[in-house]
Amino acid sequence: TLTILRDITENKKTRLAIIAARDQAQKANLAKNEFLANMSHELRTPMNAILGFSNILLESPMGDSERQYLKMVIESGEHLLSIINDLLDISKIESNRLTITHAPFNPVDLIKEVAASFNKQASEKNLKLFYEIDPLIKNRLNGDAQKIKQVLFNLVGNALKFTEKGVVTLKAQLAKETKDPLRQIIKISVSDTGIGISADKQAEIFNIFYQGDLSMTKKYQGTGLGLAIVKRFLDALGAPVKVESEPGKGSIFSFEIELAAAEAPQAPDGKIVPAGETAGPPRRV
Ligand code: ADP
Repeated sequence: TLTILRDITENKKTRLAIIAARDQAQKANLAKNEFLANMSHELRTPMNAILGFSNILLESPMGDSERQYLKMVIESGEHLLSIINDLLDISKIESNRLTITHAPFNPVDLIKEVAASFNKQASEKNLKLFYEIDPLIKNRLNGDAQKIKQVLFNLVGNALKFTEKGVVTLKAQLAKETKDPLRQIIKISVSDTGIGISADKQAEIFNIFYQGDLSMTKKYQGTGLGLAIVKRFLDALGAPVKVESEPGKGSIFSFEIELAAAEAPQAPDGKIVPAGETAGPPRRV
């Protein structure tokens, strides 16, 4: 017989030390996210009062320059609030506290609402903003409308931000047939005719705090959190984001999401409203 004796004490010690270090790092990371989530939450509450009362104040009589100052307070406040909201989302994602809801919503209304909220911004930059909705898309689907909306807010916001001239289009199409007639795969895309993104940057843009090159960062305001949130939300929804772009020509961000038709709501008189009602022809904003 052959007996091999080996002293594994050192080995074991090293392994234990590595495990302890990993646990320590995980704990620290958790604490950081916990802190970030709590702080963002605490920062949001007073912001609501600041913005709310500033808007009320705007209704009272005041001089032109006072009005101008107050408008700047509101604008900066809104910007700050959107950064705080992004931080809150990132901290939720990082600490695995992202929850997905499934509730009936109207995808047509959702697209219209997103498009309408950017109307002013588009016309201020002299850009055309279009939306197009496939009439075959059911108007009652089950899903996380809030997350889809936030994704679209980020994508349309970026499209307008990084486009100096031309068109931004928000489109929802039926992507392909499903075997189940009560399920639809919808392709949603946001395209622009803006500065575009080079091939080597197309994966990087989804990293937290990525902001293009530094000369750009000075020109375009932002935090580099928007697309990181988009990517993580869409991954959680099982609808990975795709980007196609050519520098100088524009970009298309898209995703395909499978959604189930929601049950028809009971109308007050007891009649059932059909779930398959269609959305009507494409419209211009
Ligand atoms: P932010 O817009 O706050 O800088 P994002 O995470 O939304 O952060 O975007 C990251 C970077 O990706 C941007 O700084 C920009 O360089 C690039 N980018 C995003 N959307 C577009 C777009 N539609 N066209 C060109 N570049 C874009």
